[in-house]
Amino acid sequence: MKAAVLEKKEILQIKEIPNPTPQEGEIVIEVKSCAICGTDVKVFHHGHKHIRFPRVTGHEVSGVIVALGKNVTGYKEGGRVAVAPAIPCGKCYYCRRGIEAMCDNLTAIGYHYDGGFAQLMRVPVDAVNNGCVNSIPENLSFEEASLAEPLACVINGQELSKIKFGDVVVVIGAGPIGCFHVELARIKGARKVILTEISSERLNKAKFTDTDVYLNSAEENLQKRVFEETEGRGADKVIVAVGSAKAQEDSLKIIAKRGIINFFGGLPKDKPTINFDSNVLHYGESYAVGTHGSAPRHNQLALEILANKKIDAENYITEKFPLTEIEKGLKMAEEKKGLKIIIQP
Ligand SMILES: [Zn+2]
Ligand SMILES: [Zn+2]
Repeated sequence: MKAAVLEKKEILQIKEIPNPTPQEGEIVIEVKSCAICGTDVKVFHHGHKHIRFPRVTGHEVSGVIVALGKNVTGYKEGGRVAVAPAIPCGKCYYCRRGIEAMCDNLTAIGYHYDGGFAQLMRVPVDAVNNGCVNSIPENLSFEEASLAEPLACVINGQELSKIKFGDVVVVIGAGPIGCFHVELARIKGARKVILTEISSERLNKAKFTDTDVYLNSAEENLQKRVFEETEGRGADKVIVAVGSAKAQEDSLKIIAKRGIINFFGGLPKDKPTINFDSNVLHYGESYAVGTHGSAPRHNQLALEILANKKIDAENYITEKFPLTEIEKGLKMAEEKKGLKIIIQP
């Protein structure tokens, strides 16, 4: 099969490698769509602590089951499936408490195992057994279904942010993740959603989300506007959907009393500290939480939300490339052109 093999940092080769064969309990899928994620760009340049080279990356995957290992039940050849890449063990302290996203033994497709930037992909036994392989509803295309994974992470984020009816929500960052947050906050009954971003090009591209307020924080004072929009209270919920220390610090200046901030975007590991007035939390009884991944059930929910078009994945898919043009796709993602870029191996 053809695969995009990351030989080492910044060396990506399209080449023939042996077809994967399913071991007992495993599934092999023919990959129909693998969306590019911001982390794919990071991994291309910097590698990742869980990646040993050579590795096929790509973790936002959908396809068709083409082979089943021994003793696989509940799946059949020809089944259309989306694969949740984060694989919980199902046995540890956190898994037993239903918090699979925090599994102590978490492994991931595209990191520990070869991922979806290839014609075929092997799905490990723990993924098959722990609910990571989900049928795609009939009315969803493979391309749409491959967006279930990023949406699943957003669903997990908003569970922990406790977004609810009547909230005023500020989302910082208008990339695909920020747009998902806006649309999901709406579904959950947010009264007002404010989307803020420093690039007017990105902000314009997010207009389909039908946000109440689009705020370019390079041109307008974020803090002033948020207080104006909230009768001086600040936002009930703030989601920082960018990996920026400045944005995290800003979020602490606009949170309402008893509000919840979510650091959804991570900071670079060599510069992970921020400065803030901790009395904001002390006197305001506010909360700060961070989220980054998802559990299998979030992926199942995401497919449902996409299937009933409460969030229309079509709005997010701006570019499609064959596997041979993956570097072009990664470059576009890095330059933040478009929203989601799909690779069709
Ligand atoms: Zn992703
Ligand atoms: Zn576990």
